[in-house]
Amino acid sequence: MPRHRRTKPERPKPPPSGVLDWSSSRHWKRKALPCRYQCGGLPTHLRDSNGSPAHKVCAELALDQQIREYAEAYENERLQLT
Ligand SMILES: [Zn+2]
Repeated sequence: MPRHRRTKPERPKPPPSGVLDWSSSRHWKRKALPCRYQCGGLPTHLRDSNGSPAHKVCAELALDQQIREYAEAYENERLQLT
């Protein structure tokens, strides 16, 4: 009996505006600090969901990467069970 190949499930893409509500005051602080991500550490007033200094683009990119890695890990583990 031929073995069926599983097709990779299609994941929904995150909204272009990002997943965080950047209009919330919790994402803005008076003091500009260097961004925690690899953009050159340019100062920013913005804070990510953990309260760490991060540009909106940098934080959303990191979240997208994390979500992708979690989803891939889950899919790989789940596929090994069958
Ligand atoms: Zn940055």
